Amino acid sequence: MALARRISEMEESPTLAVTAKAKALKAAGEPVIGFGAGEPDFPTPPNVVEAAQRAASDPANHRYTPATGLPALREAIATKTARDTGLEVDPAQVVVTNGGKHALYNVFMSLIDPGDEVLIPAPYWVSYPAQVQLAGGEVVAVPTDKSTGFRASVDVLEQHRTSKTKAVVFVSPSNPTGAVYPREEVEAVGRWAAEHGIWVITDEIYEHLVYGGRVAHSLPVVVPEAAERTIVVNGVAKTYAMTGWRVGWSIAPEEITKGIGKLQSQVTSNVSNVAQVAAIEALTGDQSAVAEMREAFDRRRRLAVDKLSAIEGVDVVEPEGAFYVYPSFEGILGREIAGRRVDTTLDLADVLLEEAKVALVPGEAFGLAGYARLSYALGDDDLAEGIDRIAELLSS
Ligand code: GLU
Repeated sequence: MALARRISEMEESPTLAVTAKAKALKAAGEPVIGFGAGEPDFPTPPNVVEAAQRAASDPANHRYTPATGLPALREAIATKTARDTGLEVDPAQVVVTNGGKHALYNVFMSLIDPGDEVLIPAPYWVSYPAQVQLAGGEVVAVPTDKSTGFRASVDVLEQHRTSKTKAVVFVSPSNPTGAVYPREEVEAVGRWAAEHGIWVITDEIYEHLVYGGRVAHSLPVVVPEAAERTIVVNGVAKTYAMTGWRVGWSIAPEEITKGIGKLQSQVTSNVSNVAQVAAIEALTGDQSAVAEMREAFDRRRRLAVDKLSAIEGVDVVEPEGAFYVYPSFEGILGREIAGRRVDTTLDLADVLLEEAKVALVPGEAFGLAGYARLSYALGDDDLAEGIDRIAELLSS
């Protein structure tokens, strides 16, 4: 076999695979409704698009710029971080990357040695374990379920800690469950990590998408003594409907940031300057679109929860953030649907796509089977129609 083992042993991103399949079927004329991708359906705000158009005409942006990012964007990220979470950072701690996903990859590659263990509360976003494995690390999944609101307690984390534990991945609001950790739980996790010298990689990409008066607390702000071993990852994709622009970043202590900068200088060089200038406008310009989109997501969240809860055999924990709902379908499994036996949520996802033309991501992808993830970042009409189709098929 020609393919290197690290790649042959790796799976393609299931979230992107489901999304690509749904989009291809739709392009081929199938009436597919996609709950797969976590991708806002809104266009990027016009002020951001206009900034990019101007940037494309400026020859300064036609050349290489520093691998770690445009100085003005690193500055804007530091200012935005203080504004939105209260964390004071130096622009020198910021590295601009090709989306949040790439920031995470850089972080794992720069922090994790072969054999280091990384605790990842499950269900988890699909790329955390894949990236830890690429770095040679050992993934230690820390199980949670609906009985704890999908939040990992310090007790459960402690049960999985060993002398090889190097880092914990902390995500609130969470993808795929929408769980938001209350301040006292963020504090408990931060204190525990600081006490044991464990690094925290905190993914804050959904920080602005919280509902019902909840707040996304930034771990290094709540627990300043954890800050020297905390790396914050974030990006413009979810807050500003900019998934395709690919701009994310990491904020890390100096030593790690230098490592990430070195890696990036050898692997990608700078992120597209046009996209970086667009990100500056997103972070520093008019913020009103953020609240408007959050309101729409909140409306869709309530619609999704109401409609899914009404289906017999489906059990929903109300998501408090992000734009995902992660219902349990355990009450459906073991049945025959459209002439096919459905024993797992993988089977269920197949039947739903084939028979109801609805795409969702089975929980197997996120490390907790029996559940499935639906993104509600799609239009209200599609959302309602898609869940109606699921209800109809499951009750037939
Ligand atoms: N983060 C989004 C999701 O979970 C985008 C797709 C991906 O990169 O996984 O659907």
